[in-house]
Amino acid sequence: MRAIRRFTVRTVLPAELAALGELVHNLRWSWHPETTDLFAEVDPALWRQVGHDPVALLGAVDPARLRELAADRRFLRRLADAADDLREYMTAPRWYQTLSDAPRAIAYFSPEYGLAAALPQYSGGLGILAGDHLKAASDLGVPILAVGLLYRHGYFTQSLSPEGWQLEHYPSLDPGGLPLSLLKDVRVRVGLPGRRTLHAQVWVAQAGRVPLLLLDSDVAENDAAARDVTDRLYGGGTDHRLMQELLLGIGGVRAIRAYCESTGHPEPEVFHTNEGHAGFLGLERIRELTEARLSFDEALEAVRAGTVFTTHTPVPAGIDRFPAEMIERQFGGDTAWPTVPVERILALGAEAEPGVFNMAIMGMRLAQRVNGVSELHGEVSRGMFQTLWPGFDLDEVPIGSITNGVHAPTWVGRELMELAGRELPTLIERAQGWEGVQKISDAEIWEIRGILRRRLVESARARMRTSWRARGSSDAELGWIDEALDPDVLTIGFARRVPSYKRLTLMLSDPDRLRSLLLDPVKPIQIIIAGKAHPADEGGKKLIQQIVTFADEEDVRHRIVFLPDYDMALGQELVQGCDVWLNNPLRPLEASGTSGMKSALNGGLNLSIRDGWWDEWYDGTNGWAIPTADGVTDPDRRDELEAAGLYDLIEHEVADRFYDRAGEGLPRRWLEMVKHTLATLGPKVLAGRMLRDYVVGLYAPAAASARALSADGYGPAKSFAAWRLRVNQAWPAVRVEHVEAAGVGDTPEVGASLDLRATIALGDLDPADVAVEAAYGRVGPHDELISPRYLELAPDGPGGDDGRAHYTGTIPLDRTGAFGYTVRVLPSHPMACSKAELGLIAVPEEPAGMTNGTLR
Ligand SMILES: *Cc1c(COP(=O)(O)O)cnc(C)c1O
Repeated sequence: MRAIRRFTVRTVLPAELAALGELVHNLRWSWHPETTDLFAEVDPALWRQVGHDPVALLGAVDPARLRELAADRRFLRRLADAADDLREYMTAPRWYQTLSDAPRAIAYFSPEYGLAAALPQYSGGLGILAGDHLKAASDLGVPILAVGLLYRHGYFTQSLSPEGWQLEHYPSLDPGGLPLSLLKDVRVRVGLPGRRTLHAQVWVAQAGRVPLLLLDSDVAENDAAARDVTDRLYGGGTDHRLMQELLLGIGGVRAIRAYCESTGHPEPEVFHTNEGHAGFLGLERIRELTEARLSFDEALEAVRAGTVFTTHTPVPAGIDRFPAEMIERQFGGDTAWPTVPVERILALGAEAEPGVFNMAIMGMRLAQRVNGVSELHGEVSRGMFQTLWPGFDLDEVPIGSITNGVHAPTWVGRELMELAGRELPTLIERAQGWEGVQKISDAEIWEIRGILRRRLVESARARMRTSWRARGSSDAELGWIDEALDPDVLTIGFARRVPSYKRLTLMLSDPDRLRSLLLDPVKPIQIIIAGKAHPADEGGKKLIQQIVTFADEEDVRHRIVFLPDYDMALGQELVQGCDVWLNNPLRPLEASGTSGMKSALNGGLNLSIRDGWWDEWYDGTNGWAIPTADGVTDPDRRDELEAAGLYDLIEHEVADRFYDRAGEGLPRRWLEMVKHTLATLGPKVLAGRMLRDYVVGLYAPAAASARALSADGYGPAKSFAAWRLRVNQAWPAVRVEHVEAAGVGDTPEVGASLDLRATIALGDLDPADVAVEAAYGRVGPHDELISPRYLELAPDGPGGDDGRAHYTGTIPLDRTGAFGYTVRVLPSHPMACSKAELGLIAVPEEPAGMTNGTLR
């Protein structure tokens, strides 16, 4: 029989142990092993049994044991110390508190969060990144207030059929059994077409200093369909996804308002949207301001100034889009907001294809600051979205980048963290001193690497046994697992979601070659693989099946294994225990990738295609770059070439180095690379570095813009909106009419300079509304300027009555070869944050470099 409803009866802790409840309900335990040591002491056997989940531990522990602990003075002392430590952590000033004028609070929106295996609300990289973002914010004292959804079935757990086919199970999660507390007396409501209302309650997960509000639609006021809105992460169809995104964006802002009101938490000055999914938050904020009597355009300016949008995918299919008619139904008709015209909403999400509403494009139009998640991804994103800024060169498209990072205390093996704490104290306290890694002895690092590899092998065997049993094998057939994998063999890890661009099966391109690498009598390798395919992705499941089928073969099954149910717990074991982290995406489709960073921090070496973060930070000696066959258009041929490069590297470089034990039994050349990796990559891949970049580069400037526009009852927002309107209307009359050059003769020489004088038709605009620039530099075969430099030209006298103005300036001829220049006009306003802010530009009707010349 199945229960129709489940809930968790919480333990009542004896008063002496009240602090234990506090510790359990702050997820800081998930990156603070001293706290989990204390949990383990409550009941060591039970702690293992509940999979290191402290809420489950408290739910299952025998009350008699609690009474015993309540009288155990040594335990009580340790508990008091741990509680003091947490309180200190929660209140002490940190890096952020040394800044002046930083935002009072920042709202962070994401559809998923990977904070701990015990809170399974993530599917992959985006969620893990969001979790690490919150934890690093907490460590640095950055006042983030995060918002997401509470999925009652989370993401699925994965197992395998006897045939190696992925099977999905959706566990029933009861919030009472999770480290959450309910925000009492708060209900969030979102109107739906047909006079329906979507209701949600709000749970709070506390990630150190950072509260995470999770909206949950499973409440009695909702009809059955509405109750299921937050049933699963990335489940269901388009309609379901829209409901989730409405709740996340609109409901999320309402949850923040309620939270701030009931707790006194400062209101966010900056809103950070991760990926398009949460984009409706901008509309809700426009609604708030228009109801406070701003016009739509004025509210749009105020909202844009304080919004940061981060795009996380360069895969066009990964962009979130809806049929425009669904948006029209939601925001028009009887659910329309009186102050927010539906046509304006539709225009925000309009893209080249008619009838489509694009959440990423709306995200970019609602945010004054936009970024990708690695330098290469920034560049690819500028190309993907260039058409939103017509007339601008690729590198002027206002999409920047902040490269992702990972939270070391979450991902680094405990032995290594302790070694670092002992030998390199400034690392932990001030994120400095990584070069000190060079002074640690090879033997010590190698010993820890051995411990981590052995731990992984032992855990992998246990997981293999569970998986083979679930696939129908009996224990009698599974004796071989005791000998499967080898704690001394070069161990390669490959774990990630299974979309096709990540090419799970690239390693199978030449099965015989792979087999001989695995079974090499002198320099064998072993490979541990994990990953989930999206439940609707039959192709991905086929790839998993191919890997499993190969790994099932009797001659190799001890050297290549697929471990089901990739989650944070398995991820931690893998990135800590593997010697090499393999990543072979189809370049440039990996936005950043983060698992390789986790491996690097654990003394693993990356073996990867130069994509995402690895394109940026591979330096020739901190791991290996698999050669990409970027230009090859036949996908099979490309795979074949890249796979051959991979096999060659493993055979001739990786295994050679690992097994070279000429130096007193230690792989000296290997450890040299490990140390170099830690010393140089260590400081870069940290989530703390990422957070500082966000604060300094985006959050603080966004707060400054938002404050500037909202001052004096939003006076500046009103005038900026009026200015934009006026410039948009006047722009068609703006022209570069004429450009004259003087100062060089027919044979210009390097070192000379060129005096430019441009005549600009301004139509109804004033000289103060525009900037006139010369762009100059090298030109290519089609007269295109290559990476031009810019010089702002100065007005030459007041503008004439005829709507014309003259501008002059001198450009240096400082390089030999083909040289060209042009003049352009751009709108200019102190509140704009890039030259492309309005997406308007005027260039001469003649092509660039009207007087191209060759310098000698
Ligand atoms: C780190 C991590 C990811 C993301 O890894 P990528 O390298 O970005 O693919 C996904 N899932 C889990 C469980 C992780 O720990």
